[in-house]
Amino acid sequence: MARFKRILLKLSGESLMGHQGFGIDPQRLADYAAQIKEIHDMGVEIGVVIGGGNIFRGLSGSQKGFDRVKGDQMGMCATVINSLALSSALGAIGVENKVMTAIRMEPIGEFYNKWKAIEALLAGYVCIFSAGTGNPYFTTDTGSSLRGIEIEADVMLKGTRVDGVYTADPEKDPTARKFNEISYHEVLERGLKVMDLTAICMCQDNHLPIYVFNMDVVGNLRKVIDGEEIGTLVKP
Ligand code: UDP
Repeated sequence: MARFKRILLKLSGESLMGHQGFGIDPQRLADYAAQIKEIHDMGVEIGVVIGGGNIFRGLSGSQKGFDRVKGDQMGMCATVINSLALSSALGAIGVENKVMTAIRMEPIGEFYNKWKAIEALLAGYVCIFSAGTGNPYFTTDTGSSLRGIEIEADVMLKGTRVDGVYTADPEKDPTARKFNEISYHEVLERGLKVMDLTAICMCQDNHLPIYVFNMDVVGNLRKVIDGEEIGTLVKP
């Protein structure tokens, strides 16, 4: 029996590049698709948001001279590219899915609408929500909080390359200690880098728990759904 009925899965664009310095690693993409298929076969309703950091980020673009709003629009287009790649990889293994876009761009994807998304989830489609919130100065973390809240997901699963939330960055500080559970309040108070502040505040205000886990280890998504305590739960 799955621990969650409906989830919003946030994948980072940066993880999608695997060991390459840029773009999409076909193996990593296939691994993500296979992990999603595994829980889809268990009957879990799945919404997915993917970042675009493997291709373009508006803020770093603006530091190199791009107009910030145009740079953010480029970043949102990058999330659409990643979403199409995931859609293709899911389709290749027989998982029916739909790409929805926060900005009108038919026929690339259907313009996002909460009720159409829920209808598609109930009909068994994996819904990939692309182009973030559709607005500049936001991130896909905020896009996934927003979509998670809108589709009334039981949880947002944040798939990262670390296995949870730590007192400090475990890649830099060997004394860093992992939390099994932590409150939104403590995340904010300690300034922990779980998601950006807007995203955390939205989850807190709208009671959407976040589960942070390492998605780069194949099989971990299934473990989270099975209730294994492999990551960190962020909750009230
Ligand atoms: N972005 C945006 N509005 C949104 C979501 C994303 O402007 O609602 C842009 C922003 O420039 C961001 C880029 O898209 O840098 C890629 O998204 P993000 O950085 O969240 O991707 P990740 O770091 O998770 O790969």
